[in-house]
Amino acid sequence: LMRPEFTALFGGSALATGMEPLAMLYSDHQFGVYVPQLGDGRAILLGEVTNERGERWDLHLKGAGMTPFSRDGDGRAVLRSTIREYLCCAAMRGLGIPTTQALCLVGSDDKVYREQVETGAMLVRMAPSHVRFGTFEVFYYRKQHEHLKTLADYVINHHFPHLHDAGEKYARFFTEVVERTAKLIAQWQAVGWAHGVMNTDNMSILGLTLDYGPYGFMDDYDAGFICNHSDHNGRYAFNQQPYIGLWNLSCLAQALLPLAEKDALKAALETYQPLYEREYLKLMRAKVGLVDERAGDDELIRDFLGLLQGSQADYTIVCRELSTFSTADGAINEQLRQHFLNRDRFDEWAARYRDRLRNECNRDEERRDRMIRVNPRYVLRNYLAQTAIEKAHNKDFSEVDRLFTVLQDPFTEQPGMEAYAFPPPNWGKHLAISCSS
Ligand code: AMP
Ligand code: MG
Repeated sequence: LMRPEFTALFGGSALATGMEPLAMLYSDHQFGVYVPQLGDGRAILLGEVTNERGERWDLHLKGAGMTPFSRDGDGRAVLRSTIREYLCCAAMRGLGIPTTQALCLVGSDDKVYREQVETGAMLVRMAPSHVRFGTFEVFYYRKQHEHLKTLADYVINHHFPHLHDAGEKYARFFTEVVERTAKLIAQWQAVGWAHGVMNTDNMSILGLTLDYGPYGFMDDYDAGFICNHSDHNGRYAFNQQPYIGLWNLSCLAQALLPLAEKDALKAALETYQPLYEREYLKLMRAKVGLVDERAGDDELIRDFLGLLQGSQADYTIVCRELSTFSTADGAINEQLRQHFLNRDRFDEWAARYRDRLRNECNRDEERRDRMIRVNPRYVLRNYLAQTAIEKAHNKDFSEVDRLFTVLQDPFTEQPGMEAYAFPPPNWGKHLAISCSS
């Protein structure tokens, strides 16, 4: 980091030997409508490195200036959105959710013009691959089936090598993408995170969380949570994400039609819903501290979420606090109870929950330990990011650093960091985050 070459390289002003930067072409379905050409309009792929473990990593500069795909854009990124991506990558990684990684961000004194004048910055992003659903779509819709095959073979050889010699390899590849996507979205739902712009160019072929924009962790539980200020119809609302995942996968299936049997692709698509539901229920069971699988668990969990919704209770805080639930005779769990508006309904639910816990010899102490390992104490609330951004605008990056550290270990109580687990102050509750980044 201290070497001038580092800044030169990742500030986009020098190349290392062997680097042949390129901008990738892709298209997408944007809010349900096909857009024939997008591509890296403000990012370049510096190259691919193989580390000592034999893993391949793309090095990607986001905000590096104009490319052939910049359309009307300036190719730049602003400090605000760069910090948001940098921090959320750390948060997701800490939570164990597959994501692209942010290696570093590079500041600049350049002014960038958005809805207002902003400070420019660049993000160095890393991922084993930046190939998106839209990378396949572009060749399908251009009827460039040879290119489509080249791309599919490349992705399979590099990232799904076990399928290299498999029969029906393209359909099997698609089946694995379905599986990764279903599991990824189940994790988003369980942690209460919304992507905000689930266009098909923002869907990673590796099932990584990709392209952080107006994303949001929920504060108060709200199934219909819309984090993207520009999403007027709520297409990408929190509770739509599982369905949108399937919708996007069907776009990818369409693009693979020249390579695979239609019936095989359809069969793969049909695995999505049951897989998603199984995965989501597994994660939610763990969140509420259940070990065994029993009939009626889904209803118990749904009713808990219903109570949270009705009380506008903070999702992260209440889930974490549920770990303190006592199953002792006569326990009323008063502190937890305070989060709910309708106390009678909470008591009813708590009685069912207690019976269910007792039913599997679930010891309170042991359950608590398990639950705090899956219910984060710290998430990247919008207002926390906002505070760090405001300081960074005054060239003070201490808050970015502090948040970055806290979020890397979100399940562990960190001394002196209590404030990062607080609910948002009133000003920070419904910050409008738009796509303009
Ligand atoms: P995103 O919202 O980051 O997923 O961007 C959607 C598309 O717009 C992508 O193809 C981006 O490369 C492109 N894009 C976003 N911002 C800019 C910009 N400032 N200049 C050029 N292209 C951009
Ligand atoms: Mg994108």
